[in-house]
Amino acid sequence: MSLFSVTSCDSGAAGPRLVITAGVHGDEFESIECVHQLLDWVPENLRSGTVVLVPVINEDAFLLGQRTGADGLDLARTCPGNPDGSLTEQVAYELTELICSADYYIDMHTGGTRSAVYPLAGYPLNPNEQALAGSRAMAQAFNLPFVWGTDWRLKGRSMSIACENNIPAIYTEYLGSAQCSQDGVTAYVDGCKNVMGMLGMIERQQPESRIEFTIEDAAEGSGHMQICNPAPLDGVLSPCFRLGDQVSTGDVLGRVRSMDGSEIVEIISLQTGRIIVMQTFPMVREGDATFVIA
Ligand SMILES: [Zn+2]
Repeated sequence: MSLFSVTSCDSGAAGPRLVITAGVHGDEFESIECVHQLLDWVPENLRSGTVVLVPVINEDAFLLGQRTGADGLDLARTCPGNPDGSLTEQVAYELTELICSADYYIDMHTGGTRSAVYPLAGYPLNPNEQALAGSRAMAQAFNLPFVWGTDWRLKGRSMSIACENNIPAIYTEYLGSAQCSQDGVTAYVDGCKNVMGMLGMIERQQPESRIEFTIEDAAEGSGHMQICNPAPLDGVLSPCFRLGDQVSTGDVLGRVRSMDGSEIVEIISLQTGRIIVMQTFPMVREGDATFVIA
């Protein structure tokens, strides 16, 4: 018995096997609702190949209403997992097997409860040129404003498994903050259809490009969102910018005020670029990532 619900939609005609997952983190709702809509739509519209749909990979985390399950392990850092390990390690093991069965793979995320992410499709800059070309084409077809190629050496993720096995793959992000943006759901459903259309699995008139900017950065650690502009102390975060804003080195990104109000510390940008992730939950702990700039 599987640790998560898998629906396989087989067109009956030869074609690629596309795996689409959501809910690797339990508090990311646009992606989950997108897969629910695809469960209704794909069986009647698929012309070739197979689409495998998983709305909630991490059911334990979803039912807890949080990013991780009860064992506290981040599923997106635990792959390839362990069939005899803790629940998250077992889920990671099954997720790894599922990814390895794919010809193409889409893993959808959001910023979760505490942060918001500028809508993007990302992929590891796989040294394997064929896999990289496939991933890049998928990210462009998905058609979110930001296309981001990042370090392929990051470990433990769904993308790491796809990369190691040379499977063309993308992950996506769309806002978050414990909401479920209907624009985000629509953009995700359209994005998945665009990829199916590109792969010839459905009949589809591909839309005009909505891509605003593309960055490919193979530097070690690029794409790792948990290490940027750490909060200087525990307290209340007041941002000075909005998601998607352009900032320069030296700008005050935000301020953190201590619980007793006696201390205010500025968070100074060390980079020039665009804010692609920001913590929207006002409580921060010292060391939490507050802003990610690309
Ligand atoms: Zn996530």
